[in-house]
Amino acid sequence: MFQKILIANRGEIALRVLRAAKELGIPTVVVHSTADADAMHVRLADESVCIGPPPSRDSYLNIHQIVAACEITGADAVHPGYGFLSENAKFADILAAHNITFIGPTGDHIRVMGDKIEAKRTAKRLGIPVVPGSDGAVSDEIEAKRIAAEIGYPVIIKASAGGGGRGMKVARNEADLQMALATARSEAGAAFGDDAVYIEKYLEKPRHIEIQVMGDGHGQGIHLGERDCSLQRRHQKVWEEALSPALNAEERKRIGDVCANAVAELGYSGAGTIEFLYEDGGFYFIEMNTRLQVEHPVTEAITGIDLVHEQIRVASGAGLSVTQDEVRFDGHAIECRINAEDPRTFAPSPGTISHFHTPGGLGIRVDSGVYSGYRIPPYYDSLIGKLIVHGRNRVECMMRLRRALDEFVVDGIQTTLPLFRDLVGNADIANGNYDIHWLEKYLAKEQ
Ligand code: ADP
Repeated sequence: MFQKILIANRGEIALRVLRAAKELGIPTVVVHSTADADAMHVRLADESVCIGPPPSRDSYLNIHQIVAACEITGADAVHPGYGFLSENAKFADILAAHNITFIGPTGDHIRVMGDKIEAKRTAKRLGIPVVPGSDGAVSDEIEAKRIAAEIGYPVIIKASAGGGGRGMKVARNEADLQMALATARSEAGAAFGDDAVYIEKYLEKPRHIEIQVMGDGHGQGIHLGERDCSLQRRHQKVWEEALSPALNAEERKRIGDVCANAVAELGYSGAGTIEFLYEDGGFYFIEMNTRLQVEHPVTEAITGIDLVHEQIRVASGAGLSVTQDEVRFDGHAIECRINAEDPRTFAPSPGTISHFHTPGGLGIRVDSGVYSGYRIPPYYDSLIGKLIVHGRNRVECMMRLRRALDEFVVDGIQTTLPLFRDLVGNADIANGNYDIHWLEKYLAKEQ
């Protein structure tokens, strides 16, 4: 096992990893910017190292400082959390070159999945169903028109280097295509320095369903069921649940087995998420995230498996603690992402939290790094906590969620809590009847 784990992150995920390391009896080091000197992860860690000024590029993204912090403190492993350096192949390579274990997949696996065209090719080779479309980048308009005619309109043009929902354009007919191609290409060039684009069939009303996978790096792969993350605003997930209200056990087993086998064949190590759009009974691969996800606690709630323990075990060479046959799905779980934002305009609402009171009781988990009197720095993302609720079934889970939302108090700033109080009383949500466009339409109506 590791001597000491350095956590290269902040906020609730730094605490999440810290808790798992403590349970395993492994000392922790955290790094932090000057803006985070009084953050909870700094208070709870065994050691902390200040690595730079507030902007992320000078601190949480500063690879040299993080490697130096490992050397100063004697940390022999790094957990990157999510965001920041978690999907940076160069970071994984540099740590490996310094004999420090990156708690995650190899740099090569991160690289393959970071390029969307390469990822889609790999997925196809591994037997994962993909969205019909071009085989690779499209070179010109003639080729684009030919492929679009083959797969049928509407189509979507996407950037190979894409991320965060940027560089995507929908074309509903041949007349639209020329413009969509040119705009997507120039946006991709400007945003990512790479103007390669590809074409896919545009799905009109899909759900976003993702499969949690784990690999031991030596040919064993398992899946831990799906999460339904269809409730999104500007491609940002807002509410996640497991299991999906839309899937039956047979569909779950079929897509889960495909993903577990793919991970095994890849020799993938650690946690990953294979994301799909799901429409009319069909699954269509969109990307694989090679890290722990924000929404991982809903999977932990229904399986009872601590995903960070598993990540640490696998990275240390101890293998997975469970086999596929031992994975059971128990009840239902929902996560609400609580952001320091205006619940109507979603404008950031930094400031000081004058009072913070979290709900409790059976089936309630709150992952958060904030406290009464905490001043939210304006430099980082607006997530201040996650409420995760578990029940024996979806109805019980919703009842408990409604009660927990009523108990939750965050004073001094604005948060997205009122949005969740509205959603929990909505008939479509109660019936699990929503797709990836539902929330945007609902918010437009409410304005
Ligand atoms: P990014 O990496 O930029 O987030 P993704 O490929 O994950 O891009 O897609 C982001 C979102 O864009 C999806 O969750 C979905 O809402 C939409 N999208 C992507 N591809 C398609 C498609 N073929 N049809 C319909 N919507 C799509």
